[in-house]
Amino acid sequence: MSPDLPIPAFTAPYAADDEAIATGLLRRVPREAASAARIDATATALIGSIRAGDRLGSVEAMLREYALSTKEGLALMVLAEALLRIPDSATADAFIEDKLGQGDFAHHRTQSDTLLVNASTWALGLSARVVRADETPQGTLAGLAKRIGAPAVRAATRQAMRLIGNHFVLGETIEAALGRAHAQQSDGVRYSYDMLGEGARTRDDADRYACSYAHAIAAIGRAAGNAPLPARPGISVKLSALHPRFEAVSRDRVLRELPPRLIELAREAKRYDLAFTIDAEEADRLELSLEVFAACLADPSLQGWDGYGLAVQAYQKRAAAVIDHVAELAQRFDRRLMLRLVKGAYWDTEIKRAQERGLDDYPVFTRKAMTDLHYVHCARKLLALRPRIFPQFASHNALTVATVLELAGETSDYEFQRLHGMGDALYARLLADHPTLACRIYAPVGGHRDLLAYLVRRLLENGANSSFVAQAGDDRVGLAELLRRPEAIIGTPVQARSDQIPRPSELYGAQRLNSRGVEFGDRAALQALLDDIEAARRPLPELPPATPEQAMAAIAAARDGFDSWTRTPAEARAAALERAADLLERRRASFIALLQDEGHKTLDDCVAEVREAIDYCRYYAVEGRRLFGDGVALPGPTGESNTLRLRGRGVVVAISPWNFPLAIFLGQITAALMAGNAVVAKPAEQTPVTAEAAVKLLYEAGVQRDALRLVQGDGASGAALVAHPGIAGVVFTGSTEVARAINRALAAKDGAIVPLIAETGGINTMIVDATALPEQVADDVVASAFRSAGQRCSALRLLFVQDDVADRMIALIAGSARELRLGDPRDPATQIGPVIDAEAKARLDAHIARMRREARLHFAGEAPGGGNYVAPHIFELRSAADLTEEVFGAILHVVRYRASEFGDVLDHIAASGYALTLGVQSRIDDTVAHVVARLPVGNVYINRNIIGAVVGVQPFGGSGLSGTGPKAGGPHYLPRFALEQTVSINTAAAGGNAALLAGGA
Ligand SMILES: Cc1cc2nc3c(=O)[nH]c(=O)nc-3n(C[C@H](O)[C@H](O)[C@H](O)COP(=O)(O)OP(=O)(O)OC[C@H]3O[C@@H](n4cnc5c(N)ncnc54)[C@H](O)[C@@H]3O)c2cc1C
Repeated sequence: MSPDLPIPAFTAPYAADDEAIATGLLRRVPREAASAARIDATATALIGSIRAGDRLGSVEAMLREYALSTKEGLALMVLAEALLRIPDSATADAFIEDKLGQGDFAHHRTQSDTLLVNASTWALGLSARVVRADETPQGTLAGLAKRIGAPAVRAATRQAMRLIGNHFVLGETIEAALGRAHAQQSDGVRYSYDMLGEGARTRDDADRYACSYAHAIAAIGRAAGNAPLPARPGISVKLSALHPRFEAVSRDRVLRELPPRLIELAREAKRYDLAFTIDAEEADRLELSLEVFAACLADPSLQGWDGYGLAVQAYQKRAAAVIDHVAELAQRFDRRLMLRLVKGAYWDTEIKRAQERGLDDYPVFTRKAMTDLHYVHCARKLLALRPRIFPQFASHNALTVATVLELAGETSDYEFQRLHGMGDALYARLLADHPTLACRIYAPVGGHRDLLAYLVRRLLENGANSSFVAQAGDDRVGLAELLRRPEAIIGTPVQARSDQIPRPSELYGAQRLNSRGVEFGDRAALQALLDDIEAARRPLPELPPATPEQAMAAIAAARDGFDSWTRTPAEARAAALERAADLLERRRASFIALLQDEGHKTLDDCVAEVREAIDYCRYYAVEGRRLFGDGVALPGPTGESNTLRLRGRGVVVAISPWNFPLAIFLGQITAALMAGNAVVAKPAEQTPVTAEAAVKLLYEAGVQRDALRLVQGDGASGAALVAHPGIAGVVFTGSTEVARAINRALAAKDGAIVPLIAETGGINTMIVDATALPEQVADDVVASAFRSAGQRCSALRLLFVQDDVADRMIALIAGSARELRLGDPRDPATQIGPVIDAEAKARLDAHIARMRREARLHFAGEAPGGGNYVAPHIFELRSAADLTEEVFGAILHVVRYRASEFGDVLDHIAASGYALTLGVQSRIDDTVAHVVARLPVGNVYINRNIIGAVVGVQPFGGSGLSGTGPKAGGPHYLPRFALEQTVSINTAAAGGNAALLAGGA
């Protein structure tokens, strides 16, 4: 193949069927007895060494020094892990106090147990059995504090921190790491250095990481000695560290900016003839990683260098296809490449993401044995690709290692790899038995502050009871169990999936399907969606507002329609809603086009909104069947039957906002309809076309025309509907001010008292203390404050940050916000579109102008010229009291607080009267529990963003100035739309109670 041809794109099904893959893999398993016996023998020897090894290591020294039991040592490790990132001693002390647990530990139990078990089975090799299941780290530490005193506990904790650092990190600087590596140098041992840190959130981060990689490469190169590749040291690079938006939707930008940076580093590595491996990250970044990898490979200046390579994850269903693709690239550019085969470090993240995004299936296997089987298959492929590919096998699993050894035969043109601090005994034995083999140590380098994410992955890896390290460390697991082959564990292809992990669509059980989403990291899926949207796009028609007569006629019609609809069995009403959900799913593209064109929403917001609308329909259908069937029999005296039933009220007026013109609009209507009401719906005047399309869809799904009437118009039309004497209820989402006006109008009417369900906004807050993880805070704050151009009721308006960490947090948030792209919402790369209309823009611009005068500006984004764009802003206020009303746009207000003023922060939030969404970012359980208990806010989110409530998962709505409740998408919503009726029948009236007489015989 000529290098001038375009680089072939990587294509493979994102989440192929497990059973089909298993069929292929099981067919290829060799079944030669002699070979199996050799694998058994090798693995047995390796396991023997692991089990005989000095598992306590330096933990023992610490235990002796402080006269601790192993159990107490472990509890200290748990504490140390979290303490690593707390800057100020006050918070550190509060944190220690919290963990030393004043009094009640019971409510921490579940979380603590997991942590402790994880911690206790990690690579330090301590057995989980040291700690009894009914013990918690808090309990252990509290006992310890009593015995040796809090200061000694604090000192021991710091010692434990150093120990964790030393165990998992080779050095805090590359120079220190090189020195330590040099001291430990022995035959067959090579190093690949890894610069620790979270992915870049800002351009500064990315620059800093690039500098640190460049610095490390030079230092490693200078110390590299004279051995030729592959026996030279190397570096492992994370692409997410080199670009602040390393994500599929920013593809064009990434491909423009990242390859030059990577090529520059690769050239440096080439200069010293080092190994240079691109780490494998999350599945949705795989296609983009391969493009960046190929762009760098294609650079002619790197010709002749055999050190370039990447990691492939066997838990991904696409791993074999990745190997084929990379082999094709190597051939094409006539290069030798290094390929590191790993199982994969982000398994739980992948499962969570696929569930959250409602994907058709998982990109990774759900049974560990499938990963193991796939690993062996990929290993065979890699070995067959030598010498074009230099295979590198990274595993701490003795059976996997023994299998690779057997597959490789007598050759040695490959290497094993392990992580620093793990697999020591295994590889010491392997290299002693096979002196021609080589093992490379992946050696993290960095300060304690950057250790956390790495440590968490290792803890998860070693704590999971499916993990080989955990099993080998547990003497109760027999040798035969450890030698069981993955193909024997899987058995037949139909057992390739875990029956414990439902498909994303089945997340909510048999009764309710999860709505389908799209993985933007799957380019084929994204492109298909974009094509469908373009094909569905139509010019927006002009829809005139209804005249007052039409509005009144709509109510009259709905009053007529009520009788028939309310008598329609609940089952039929539910079925209509489910048909509506299916239709929405089928017509997703046309609704997305409408939401983009009319609501100016970005692609991911549109996908999320259509999903939410679908979820409402299905959720209320399920709830409706439960609540509106035959009623509930109540206990009572004999000779009488008592039944409680729910029934529709009459005509409900549903008034919805423009910011969720499909989801909120349909959520209100479907709930009211399900409860047996007729509905007159008045959408926002800004989004009439979406509303009309949604109503047509409901008719098509089987909702009777007279049961649902649409009235287009502005606030005055809404007011006229509300004032009508013939309505039986109002459901409203919008501003507090309008909700109040509706409330007054209803109260002023004669006749029946009409209920109002109002969901309004609020000055939503987030509290960040010094224990929070800065990168996570930046991600969550930016999403909460700026996504959807800040036009969500749940959006973050006011951020309270503990002053000890405020400078760094604010800088990170501002730097991350700077990377957001403003522009046309139809472009998938856009993160922020225009605001809804010129009026909204004028209001926000005026607020920004005032803030510029009155507050300290930390960040002002740049808005594109023309259009109703309002760039994100971050202002620091002197006092939280300076923000008196909800500002509905991408403007974040920040207030610093001293740790000692924490109570004042809570008082302020309580006094504001708003209670919709609240975020807390803290690792102190008691802080979280205290905040939750103190503030009756509707939706509280801990260590995550505060937007995107999911129907049936986070029922949404607040109290006080933020709404009346009950929560939309929750179990108490439908009954509010209904009347209650009990029917008591005197069954004795018609001739006595035969059953009673029989019973007394
Ligand atoms: C030198 C080196 C470099 C590494 N580089 C990377 C990298 O670039 N990218 C990366 O992602 N990881 C990387 N890792 C981490 C690596 O993925 C883990 O260490 C590895 O998965 C552990 O596998 P094992 O064979 O040692 O242990 P085992 O215990 O045999 O396997 C554990 C692994 O099985 C998989 N697994 C667990 N449960 C399930 C399940 N229910 N269904 C399916 N699969 C499951 C997971 O991948 C888990 O990590 C690297 C590791 C080493 C040693």
